[in-house]
Amino acid sequence: MDVDYLILGQGLSGTWLSYYLLKAGQTCIVFDKEDPLASSRVAGGIINPVTGRRHAKVWMVDEVIGFADQAYREIGASVNETVIAAKNIVDFFPSPDTKISFEKRVAENNIYMKTYPEPEKFRDLFDYPFGWGEITPAYTVILEKLLPAWRNRLKELQILREENLETSKLVITENYVEYGDIRAKKIIFCNGDHAAIQPWFKALPFAPNKGQILVLDIPGLPPDRIYKKNITLVPLDENGRWWAGSSYEWNLNIPDPQKNSG
Ligand SMILES: Cc1cc2nc3c(=O)[nH]c(=O)nc-3n(C[C@H](O)[C@H](O)[C@H](O)COP(=O)(O)OP(=O)(O)OC[C@H]3O[C@@H](n4cnc5c(N)ncnc54)[C@H](O)[C@@H]3O)c2cc1C
Repeated sequence: MDVDYLILGQGLSGTWLSYYLLKAGQTCIVFDKEDPLASSRVAGGIINPVTGRRHAKVWMVDEVIGFADQAYREIGASVNETVIAAKNIVDFFPSPDTKISFEKRVAENNIYMKTYPEPEKFRDLFDYPFGWGEITPAYTVILEKLLPAWRNRLKELQILREENLETSKLVITENYVEYGDIRAKKIIFCNGDHAAIQPWFKALPFAPNKGQILVLDIPGLPPDRIYKKNITLVPLDENGRWWAGSSYEWNLNIPDPQKNSG
């Protein structure tokens, strides 16, 4: 079987890459073993225009945020699903310093941040002695819909191989790449943190970091916003269900959270 591209991985990167290649009239085949612990399957899916304790604007956000909204609507429409939702972020200040930092950014006309005229709005739900501000627009990508829906599309097109690709069996030449019965002009690695342990990329300064999350049922918490204090609560698609994350650690030896927490 001859194709233009062999794509390794169907997380977010492999999903988007295959979507745009097909749209551009290219042929591809995607290998994915569907690891339930892959980043894209456990992520919060938050698109947040400001970052860190200092509330800095994300790099290129003015160009990127509108594009992301539009692009996720477009890929969603192609599989008859809604896969993005606008969800402002309620930022409960964990300290007086973060409140000052937030207010300073608002005064500097950061268009994505607002101090709120209703300081008591969430008193029944949360404890927040230092107040809160709002980040808008922000979004959640509904990964639990997007990834399976796009996977189904690849299956319908008969261009998905649901198996482990053994990279040691790849034959890579200057003009083509072969793997079993497939010959492709190029291979593109969308294999997430697996890339860090492979010979082709070992010169790159990977710093793998493992995130941990909990999925919670919180009946009655209004799902129209993301709530952030020391942890972040993201409403999932299923009513009353929330993603809580994320703590992290630098030890990636064991992917399973239970085994690692001892
Ligand atoms: C807990 C957590 C929370 C996060 N929250 C956010 C967030 O809110 N917002 C944000 O922007 N980012 C977030 N991220 C980061 C984001 O999830 C990742 O940057 C993104 O999902 C990476 O996608 P990817 O497609 O590159 O890799 P992955 O999602 O790792 O996908 C790689 C795929 O390749 C497959 N694969 C690998 N090797 C092989 C092989 N040999 N054969 C077959 N298949 C293979 C895997 O099974 C997997 O499906 C979070 C990450 C974590 C861990």
